[in-house]
Amino acid sequence: MPSKKPPQNKTVAIIGGGPAGLMAAEVIATAGFAVDVFDAMPSVGRKFLLAGVGGMNITHSEDSTAFLGRYGQASADLAPMIAQFGANELIAWVHGLGIDTFIGSSGRVFPIEMKAAPLLRAWLARLKASGVKFHVRHRWLGWGANKSLRFSSSEGEISRTFDAVILALGGASWAKLGSDGAWVPLLAEQGVKVEPLKPSNCGFDVAWSAHLADKFAGAPVKTVAAAARPHDAKKTGEFVLTQSGVEGSLVYALSSQLRDDIAENGTATLWLDLVPQKSLARITEELSQPRGADSMANHLRRKLGIEGVKAGLLREIVSKDDFTQPAKLAAAIKSLPITLIAPRPIDEAISSAGGVTFTGLDTNLMLSQVPGVFCAGEMLDWEAPTGGYLLTACFSSGRAAGLGVVNWLNSAHKPLAKKRTKAELSAETEKSARKVAKSKTAEGDVVAAKSKRSKAKAESADPVEVAIKPKRARKSS
Ligand SMILES: Cc1cc2nc3c(=O)[nH]c(=O)nc-3n(C[C@H](O)[C@H](O)[C@H](O)COP(=O)(O)OP(=O)(O)OC[C@H]3O[C@@H](n4cnc5c(N)ncnc54)[C@H](O)[C@@H]3O)c2cc1C
Repeated sequence: MPSKKPPQNKTVAIIGGGPAGLMAAEVIATAGFAVDVFDAMPSVGRKFLLAGVGGMNITHSEDSTAFLGRYGQASADLAPMIAQFGANELIAWVHGLGIDTFIGSSGRVFPIEMKAAPLLRAWLARLKASGVKFHVRHRWLGWGANKSLRFSSSEGEISRTFDAVILALGGASWAKLGSDGAWVPLLAEQGVKVEPLKPSNCGFDVAWSAHLADKFAGAPVKTVAAAARPHDAKKTGEFVLTQSGVEGSLVYALSSQLRDDIAENGTATLWLDLVPQKSLARITEELSQPRGADSMANHLRRKLGIEGVKAGLLREIVSKDDFTQPAKLAAAIKSLPITLIAPRPIDEAISSAGGVTFTGLDTNLMLSQVPGVFCAGEMLDWEAPTGGYLLTACFSSGRAAGLGVVNWLNSAHKPLAKKRTKAELSAETEKSARKVAKSKTAEGDVVAAKSKRSKAKAESADPVEVAIKPKRARKSS
């Protein structure tokens, strides 16, 4: 039950100092409540900083219907949050921190310096100025007596109680940055329904021959097109052939379907078009031209530019017989089936699927099993491709949970005469949002999203491929 303290004396714990937790902290502190942020790591926002290492895409500029569609089955659950705080509001918020943005050729939106560090620095300074207290190296261990929160800290185990709690503990990828999924059993013990965490935007294992793996591991395969089903429209992009399989942006874009196919059937197929700019008929025609004394390998290189890793992939998968038959070889070039045997471990993935289900949360993101405890960010059960959709959903769900806490704490002082309807609850959320927005005008003006399409750096290099580059590649860079 909510406490009977007057609102101004109420305290809120945010556990997890990633983008979702920090956004919740901002909303709640702006509404006048005392906020303590706890994080297991020596500093907050570590994954957010990593996301900004090679060029962080913070959101996407496509129209709102297409944008929402990126969240697949979770679109309906995320829709109200993203309607209130979507791409435009997020861009305006970034501008309010004094950071300019630009839109890349892909439609992705980047902070002007393409890094997270200046944004995080400005944001933390603003949060501290608004009274938010930070407790790093505090690992949440679960609940103790009377719903107290247990933390391990440098002073040993400590216990604290709060009037409301937001859990923004992230998924389970890149555990060394703090989000390790260790919260799953803690919530399950309370009867909270949690879908198992699975890798999303991940690479896959392939049983390559030793010859192919040794010769081409680390080689980029570009520009190609791929699909997870033989008759699906193929997406164009690139990926990297690794010692154990495939990874990189094109594979990540198809990863949820490929992962689910493996779970269902034991394997999945990546259908690869090695020469997307030419039709099957054209390729067949070119391969059928007389080649004199030329080998088929030379013919492929001269006619279609297929050499190196692309030629290696063809040799790996196409039988010796088919390799000499133009029609069969052309068909393989346009739709080369690569059998994937397992997703790479979740720790290597860009993000996680699964998490706290929306059915166990009310419209304010409060856990129905644990009143007064709210959840936000990647720990909720949604997934999305790379391209700024991940961070947008983290920010907007963090904001929604923050507003939910403000509602909960304010409503705790109203006589509990009748149970409020869903419509009344969402009207209250709107009212809190307006109040928070009003008090924020002093912090920075909300300006229209600025697009600097001429930013040559982004246009030429497609920074997202760099931002979301494979873990091993990133490590070695
Ligand atoms: C390499 C890489 C690049 C990425 N690039 C992009 C990008 O360009 N665009 C994009 O949209 N997304 C990107 N992402 C994804 C994005 O960074 C995440 O989706 C986002 O950070 C998740 O935010 P969150 O607040 O939910 O969780 P997190 O950022 O994971 O934060 C969770 C916090 O909770 C803390 N925590 C966890 N357990 C405990 C505990 N028991 N006690 C105390 N604290 C705990 C952790 O230490 C951590 O600080 C990238 C991810 C990776 C790995």
